[in-house]
Amino acid sequence: MFDLYRKKRLAFITFAYWFLLFYIVAALAWWFIELWQMNQAMYAFKLELLRTGDPAFEERLQSIMLERERKAGQFIGEGITFLFITLLAALFVYRAMRKQIRLNEQQQNFMMAVTHELKTPIAVTKLNLETLKRHRLDETQSEKLIIKTLQETNRLNDLCNNILLSSQLEAGGFTLNMEENDLAEIITSIVREFNTRFPKRSIKADIPENIRIEGDRFLLQLAINNLIENALKYTADDRPIEVSAVSSTGSVEISVKDQGPGIPDQEKKHVFAKFYRVGTESTRQTKGTGLGLYLTRKIVEDHRGKIFVKDNIPSGCIFVIDLPKKSS
Ligand code: ADP
Repeated sequence: MFDLYRKKRLAFITFAYWFLLFYIVAALAWWFIELWQMNQAMYAFKLELLRTGDPAFEERLQSIMLERERKAGQFIGEGITFLFITLLAALFVYRAMRKQIRLNEQQQNFMMAVTHELKTPIAVTKLNLETLKRHRLDETQSEKLIIKTLQETNRLNDLCNNILLSSQLEAGGFTLNMEENDLAEIITSIVREFNTRFPKRSIKADIPENIRIEGDRFLLQLAINNLIENALKYTADDRPIEVSAVSSTGSVEISVKDQGPGIPDQEKKHVFAKFYRVGTESTRQTKGTGLGLYLTRKIVEDHRGKIFVKDNIPSGCIFVIDLPKKSS
């Protein structure tokens, strides 16, 4: 219902835009033809007034012809400039309009996703705690419920961190706490935590010792965390996830490799955009807000690094973070 209304509104805006543009260009063309014809008529009249017996006939004729040519050149020049400015303005309006529409759509998707993402963990946590309070469960059952509740709380915590941090980083309200970090130590601790949270999944890390990077530990952890979280989310349970790092002079490349469905080439440049999620609400199987990769890219760029995604062979994708190393 809501979608239909949105589509109708979009169709109306698009129609109004093209209609207006067509009208402006047609009016411009009409104005040009009118002016041209008036100009021709005026000079034809001037030529008619010219008398053949006039001693300065040749001279006057020359001057009228020259002026006519000059005027024609002026009209053509002005016409082309107007047309160019109109089309340029139309292009700007079109791009701004498309950007606004896409942002609106993504924000609406985001609101729906966030509402859903917030409600589910809260509902599960509430239910689990009520069960624990009301029933006398044996130790294994309560342990299971507690672990499940903790997982949901962690998800909630990640979501809140992502939302809060993106707005803080955007507004410049977050001061980076730059310190020297040991990359192997950061990644190993993240992977250890994931292995505890998802004991059935295979997450491996292969990080050389003694790579020092300067940065905000919390943010770097969050960036790598988001990539592993996505790799887990978008990959079948029996497929492994590998985290590796390769050090070269001046920089280090951290890769998170999965064997999921991968990301189509035409989507690769979009996935880092705010609220962007591949597919539509109805085709998507996974939960999410489209903030994770946006935030990850923001963090990497705030650390003077780069992030990109490429295909894994034979399937899946590899997210690569390229960070400058601490100069010793
Ligand atoms: P979210 O996961 O909350 O949707 P992200 O910003 O983390 O948001 O990711 C944006 C989109 O990129 C996802 O919706 C998904 O379509 C795609 N994506 C991210 N990581 C992967 C991955 N490892 N494999 C396949 N698709 C991915």
